Amino acid sequence: MSDKPQHFIADAIQADLDSGNHDSIVTRFPPEPNGYLHVGHAKSICLNFGIAQEFGGQTNLRFDDTNPEKEDQEYIDAIRRDVAWLGFEWAKECYASDYFEQLYAWAQDLIQRDLAYVDELDAEQMRAYRGTLKQPGQNSPFRDRPAQESLDLFAGMRAGDFAEGQYILRAKIDMAHPNINMRDPALYRIRRAHHPRTGDAWNIYPTYDFAHGQSDAIEQITHSLCTLEFEDHRPLYEWFIDNLPVPGQPRQIEFSRLQLEHCLTSKRKLLALVTEGHVQGWDDPRMPTISGMRRRGFTPASIRDFCSRIGVTKKANTIEMSLLETCLRSDLENTARRGFAVQDPIKLTITNWPQGEVLALDAAWHQRVPELGTRPLEFDGTVYIDRADFEEVPPPKYFRLKPGGSVRLKYAFIVDFESLIKDEQGNIAEILCTYDPATRSGQDESGRKVKGTIQWVPSQSVPAEMRLYDRLFSDPNPVGDDLINELNPESLVLKQGLVEPALAAVEVGEIVQFERIGFFRKDEDSSASEPVFNRAVTLKDGWAKAQKKG
Ligand code: ATP
Ligand code: MG
Repeated sequence: MSDKPQHFIADAIQADLDSGNHDSIVTRFPPEPNGYLHVGHAKSICLNFGIAQEFGGQTNLRFDDTNPEKEDQEYIDAIRRDVAWLGFEWAKECYASDYFEQLYAWAQDLIQRDLAYVDELDAEQMRAYRGTLKQPGQNSPFRDRPAQESLDLFAGMRAGDFAEGQYILRAKIDMAHPNINMRDPALYRIRRAHHPRTGDAWNIYPTYDFAHGQSDAIEQITHSLCTLEFEDHRPLYEWFIDNLPVPGQPRQIEFSRLQLEHCLTSKRKLLALVTEGHVQGWDDPRMPTISGMRRRGFTPASIRDFCSRIGVTKKANTIEMSLLETCLRSDLENTARRGFAVQDPIKLTITNWPQGEVLALDAAWHQRVPELGTRPLEFDGTVYIDRADFEEVPPPKYFRLKPGGSVRLKYAFIVDFESLIKDEQGNIAEILCTYDPATRSGQDESGRKVKGTIQWVPSQSVPAEMRLYDRLFSDPNPVGDDLINELNPESLVLKQGLVEPALAAVEVGEIVQFERIGFFRKDEDSSASEPVFNRAVTLKDGWAKAQKKG
């Protein structure tokens, strides 16, 4: 979308075009609909769609729906929504299950040509016969079963004549092959499972290895980009393409998976977070899912920018969360409207304010981006400021409000501390100040300078729930086996704050800046009387500093 990608896959594609191997390219993004997409998938999406766009080609969205037990229409719908939200359009929407009939016919074809057979070793025996990395495997005693017998058994498998695990269809390649994936890999297993699309039509389902490359070939995919764990499967991928009358010649190229600090990126482990109730759902704003990130306040542009900055290589590495956050801040910097909010309100009363007077301000939504317009903001001598902006016993160089000190209330006046009102427990209940009428922002002729400027909210502000999200896992490299102990207990902190009326009124889904605090997205949980805002990201990177302090 932005700069031309520069990486080994782009080079390989360019070479294939230059050499005349292909006139145009077709890629695919092939999720299994067994969970919601996560930030790792975003990398694959941006790569597959981005590179096709770059070379004037096309990208299919293919659901790799070959494991019916774990798959669901809910996931298919979520995946479609997420890919579209990221800003990509697929040329065709495909399903591996659309090819079940063709794959079955090709499997029969392999049997007829003595390249596949029905085996009946059980799982344990199969493992024993497979050998190890150092030791060759052994042929199954059923390997030389006559082709017709295998064909009949295979038909029986399909028809539902046998129990799960009783028979399996395997390719006949080489049990002594140094690559274990080539030692007579499984092609079909008996699974008595209901499929979200094919229902109960099938009692057997193809393996990933048998389905994937052939689906690529059927769709005339030219470059099948996948993550490194499939590198060892490439000889098998090519064996099928070479040994079957497929209508295409796809080429598999592998790249490293994205790993992001403080996150898990495995659908299985994310599912455990959801089902065990550690988060509120797949779209919990702490989840590294695309739907969670959307709800948190990430933008499609920020995620695409992130994927382009991390690049595409074969090296495994873990990316810092701060890079993702930097991308979000830079996207929102000049696009998000900015208003006033306080997370921990404390009342500030101006004692010399003319009784009953209301100053109606027309405040810019963004001082450097006038196109964002203005909003009404009223100043009537009583405001709320953030408790964090007052210190009774301030440290040196404290430029916010303190006894004897002065501060500017942004867009309004300089106020001078007068006194404190405390409650029975000794907590500060109210701060009394005087204001200096000659210091009105934009019309200040007083010549006074103060070092601190703080935000405030008017007396007529709206209570808002603020959900302050942070890293879901404390450890940069969580394992995900002991969730209770690995989760960051402060990944969600709730605040009851106040927002100025114009901020309270933004649409659900809008991301705004709470000045001096962070970027927040108005959440779907908002009600007419109480808006809810999710903190997407703070204005500065506070995590590294907090970790150092311990
Ligand atoms: P998971 O373990 O989360 O289920 P997966 O690889 O099994 O991941 P698929 O739905 O099969 O998930 O993945 C669809 C595509 O996304 C594949 O091409 C896969 O290689 C790619 N992908 C998945 N996770 C990542 C990741 N962390 N980084 C880059 N690409 C990824
Ligand atoms: Mg998978």
